[in-house]
This record gives sequence, structure tokens and C-alpha cells, in this order.
Amino acid sequence: MRATKAIIHLDYLKQNIAEIKRFVKPGVKMCIAVKADAYGHGAVECAKTAVASGADFLAIATVDEGRELRDAGIKTPLLMLSLCAPEEIADAVSLDITPFVFDEEYIRLFAEEVQRQNKAPYSVHLAVDTGMGRIGCEPKNAAVIAQKIADTGVLVQGGTATHFAVSDVDSKEGRDFTELQFKTFTDAITLIRNAGLNPGLCHCCNSAATIDHPEMQLDMVRPGIIVYGYYAEEISKAYLEKKGTPLTLRPVMTLVSTVSAIRRFEAEKSVGYGRTWKAEKETDIGVLTIGYGDGWVRRFALNGVPVAVNGKSYPIRGRICMDQCMIDLGLDNKNVHRWDAAVLFGDSAEGALQTADDIAQKTGTISYEITSCITRRVPREFKE
Ligand SMILES: *Cc1c(COP(=O)(O)O)cnc(C)c1O
Repeated sequence: MRATKAIIHLDYLKQNIAEIKRFVKPGVKMCIAVKADAYGHGAVECAKTAVASGADFLAIATVDEGRELRDAGIKTPLLMLSLCAPEEIADAVSLDITPFVFDEEYIRLFAEEVQRQNKAPYSVHLAVDTGMGRIGCEPKNAAVIAQKIADTGVLVQGGTATHFAVSDVDSKEGRDFTELQFKTFTDAITLIRNAGLNPGLCHCCNSAATIDHPEMQLDMVRPGIIVYGYYAEEISKAYLEKKGTPLTLRPVMTLVSTVSAIRRFEAEKSVGYGRTWKAEKETDIGVLTIGYGDGWVRRFALNGVPVAVNGKSYPIRGRICMDQCMIDLGLDNKNVHRWDAAVLFGDSAEGALQTADDIAQKTGTISYEITSCITRRVPREFKE
């Protein structure tokens, strides 16, 4: 295996889910998001661990993601959170993927395919747009669309869902909007019930809402990022401690590389493309075998993200290349030897001095983007 790899702690994944369960009310089902290759952690392995830890559903984004899980023998219901193309619907149905639906055309396409494959009754979840502004029907039309589902005669409304836009924001404005979304959602559910229809499992909580708004859990929660060990933005560790509901998460992924060479640079010698950095005085430069082709992207260097080797942190010098980047070890560094592991982010037990969240905060993004953008070239090494 390449020395540059992502160590995936399935044991931490299990611990995180157990921690999250303390916040989930008895009887509430869990749909764990394993979309985008489980936020970069490896969908099949993470899905198996999630199911062993009690996941009732797994959330995916694409039909291909569903196929990968089914091919691995996973029988758990799969909820597909994004729409697929019409030409993928045959596969979606044959793989027993439960789609989010919200408009007549998409409902009709699924119904026709279900009929063709003789798979009735087939479960779909109605998505309601209460303020996310992505997919979902208008809340006032919820009963009308629910009736369209029923009218197909082959689809059943297994659930009704909405998605929060700012549940991870700790401000009055944010909280008010989440409350409004929740109210709009429960009103839409009432419309469906008043029309004599069954809304099925009602669910709206992502990670932040699951932890911060237990009163909104309804029949099922859909956590993602917290499962992988990162707090949902402003619903931070400190915030939850202050609130009196502490949550201890461990980052599941540790990204490591190696110091493949250590080279003496005299003053004025430059490092890398564009010659953006020159040694001020003599120093030793370590060459790491990781670059933007691995998801270790160029902007990390611009924002002074350091790299840990044997418990100390060293600055990246020059631009990050596709396959390599360079760090400044200083002269005659006794702490670092050739082939030592360089730890880019992850759990402190693996020698990491920062998490993906720390990097995200420095570089204007979110932990989700950092872990899910670690590319396929980086082998995942699973630890139980
Ligand atoms: C991705 C996603 C989730 C999980 O979100 P987290 O913020 O990672 O908890 C839940 N529901 C929907 C519809 C999503 O798209």
C-alpha cells in the first residue's frame, strides 16, 4: 500500500454512532448518510459498520452509490436524497432504492418502471421544500402530491421529509428559520393526514438538528457529518458543553503521508512551481508524496496549514503540486527522519495535531468538503 493513505477508524465510527444515539429518542429510526463514499471514508465499510450499529436506513445520493452497497450485500433500505436521471430509474427500482419524489413527472416515471418490473407496492418518500430551496414540493401542495403518489396504485408513501438550511447556525435568525421550517413541515404533514393519506415516516433532522433540536426528531433522523467525527459547524463541542449536553466525537479519518526525501536547501534556493517561496537561510526541506491529485489542495498551502511529523508541526513551503508538496524542517532536525510518517489531519492518537475541521476553518470551507474530496488514489486502510 502507498504510504500516503487514509486510515479509517471504524471503531471510532461505532463510538460516534453510540454517542449520537444518546441524543436520539427511543423509537426514533436512524438513517445514516453514506453518500459521497461516506463523506470520503469508504461507503461499503462505513455502511456495514453503521448497519451493525443500528442504522435503519442508509442515505445515498446516486444510483451508482446504491449499486455499490447492494453489490456488497447490504440489504438495508437505501434513501436516495438527490434525483436521478430518467435513464437511471430502471436500475434504481431493480436495486430497491427509495427515492425522494416531489413532482408529477418523476412520480410517473417511477410508477411506470415499478409496474414494468412488477415491484408494487414500492416505497417513495415525499420531499417538501420548507426553506432549503433545493428539492421538494411547495408545502401547501403536499397533500396534492401525496394524492398523486397514492393515485399511481403502485407507489406507497413510505415517508415525508424536509431538509434544514441553517440548523447548524447558532444565531437567533438561524434558530428562528429552523423553527419556521419545522412548523411549515408539520403543517404540511397535517395537510396530508387531513386528506386521509398516510405520510409514512416523517423526518427532517440532519446532524445539527438531531443533536440540537431533539424535539424535531419525529420518526427518523438523518445524521451525516457527526457520524464521521466532526461537529456540525456552530453546534460545536464547546457550544454543546455550555448547553449541558456534551457530545464527544472522534474524527474517523486520519490522512497520512511520508517524508520521502530530506534535502538541504541553501539560502535563496526556491521551492516548487512559480518559485513562490525561497529559503531565507540554509534549511532542510522534506518532500511529501501527497498533492492536489490526492485532495490535498493548493489552497491549503496559501493559508498556512501545517503538517505534523512526530508530534511537531512544520509549514508547507511553495505551491502544493499534483503529487507532492514540500515542508520546511529547519536545519539538522533531529525529530524528523526520511520515511517518517507525516500526518496531515485526523485523530490525535495517530499523531495528528489538527482535524479536517481545523483546516476547514483556516481555508474557508467545511470538514465535509475536505474529507469527501480526498480522492480515490488515496487507499483507505480500515481499522476495526
Ligand atoms: C447530506 C444530507 C443529510 C446529512 O447532513 P449532515 O449535515 O451531514 O448531517 C441529511 N439529509 C439530507 C437531505 C442530506 O442531503
